[in-house]
Amino acid sequence: MLNILENEPLSKYTTFHIGGPAKHLVIVKNIEELREALEWAKNNQKKYFILGGGSNLFFSDAGYDGLIIKSAFADIIIEETEAIVSAGMPLLLAVKRLAEAGFKGLENFAGIPGTIGGAVCGNAGAYGSSMSEVVLKAEILITEDYHIEQVKKEWFEFGYRKSKLKYWKDKNKPIILRVWLSLEKGDKEELLARVKEVMEKRKEKEPKGFCAGCAFKNIKGDVVAGLLEKFDFTLEERERFGSRKAIPTAWFIDNAGLRGRKIGGAYIAEEHANYIMNDGSATADHVLQLISFVKQRVRDKFGVQLEEEIQIIL
Ligand SMILES: Cc1cc2nc3c(=O)[nH]c(=O)nc-3n(C[C@H](O)[C@H](O)[C@H](O)COP(=O)(O)OP(=O)(O)OC[C@H]3O[C@@H](n4cnc5c(N)ncnc54)[C@H](O)[C@@H]3O)c2cc1C
Repeated sequence: MLNILENEPLSKYTTFHIGGPAKHLVIVKNIEELREALEWAKNNQKKYFILGGGSNLFFSDAGYDGLIIKSAFADIIIEETEAIVSAGMPLLLAVKRLAEAGFKGLENFAGIPGTIGGAVCGNAGAYGSSMSEVVLKAEILITEDYHIEQVKKEWFEFGYRKSKLKYWKDKNKPIILRVWLSLEKGDKEELLARVKEVMEKRKEKEPKGFCAGCAFKNIKGDVVAGLLEKFDFTLEERERFGSRKAIPTAWFIDNAGLRGRKIGGAYIAEEHANYIMNDGSATADHVLQLISFVKQRVRDKFGVQLEEEIQIIL
């Protein structure tokens, strides 16, 4: 029997601690419960949204007029050259379990909050690695008729911090159930040391407080060379950003003079200008206003159009 909660504050379920109430919310621990929840939504003519760790998004102040399905299935099977991980498993837990078992490939993701499902959906990444490099295939639930399909990595159409699932428009978004990750044997002690090192690095540079990670995507690709020519980068920045073909968005926000800028309870972090923080009193509206203000200022000053990395669920 499903335990469907009513008028559940969504601020409790996101790392941003923002969002009004979900009309209905259910935590599902297995595929049967997931099917049951979808059936309930269909019978009650409710839209649904699948939530992982809630670390890459925020909900509007009005909340969500439908069913939030929080996926909490979290198993891992480790085989010779691959691991099969359930979508609801926290990414950090998978990273640690694999390092402890002496398998490498996930260490650079240590410290990224959220679940495997969320990480695949948004092609999460850090330190030059992204999920798409380790995903082999996945099992997804087709929500029109609840049948399960296996899809290859190509199905996701991975790009920089996105897959086709992240911006799925149709109401019947498929749900990731399990993901096959490719593995290589490594030295357990070295892998655990790398996990620790990555976690410590993140701790040093990440702003402390409520947020949803980087607010905007970095600037990548062919435009980079022109921007490096045009604006006042140091020689060191020119070389570093030029060789990576990427300019951190924090540079533009910072050089537009927006570090620390605040609207209501939402502010740009002093430690890292691409983080929008909630001081505990921010509403979704404050964040939306700040996003819009930053985009306008950066566009006016540098002619650069920023794109949100965080998702706003209305
Ligand atoms: C402090 C902090 C640091 C961060 N650092 C990084 C970083 O270094 N790199 C990075 O890439 N991100 C980073 N993030 C952002 C975030 O942690 C990642 O994007 C993460 O992978 C999101 O996972 P989640 O489970 O929280 O997804 P959610 O935020 O819950 O959901 C994100 C999207 O995934 C979808 N989704 C979730 N599960 C499923 C499923 N089973 N099937 C289908 N769709 C699903 C949701 O519907 C939604 O569209 C950071 C966030 C914070 C708060």
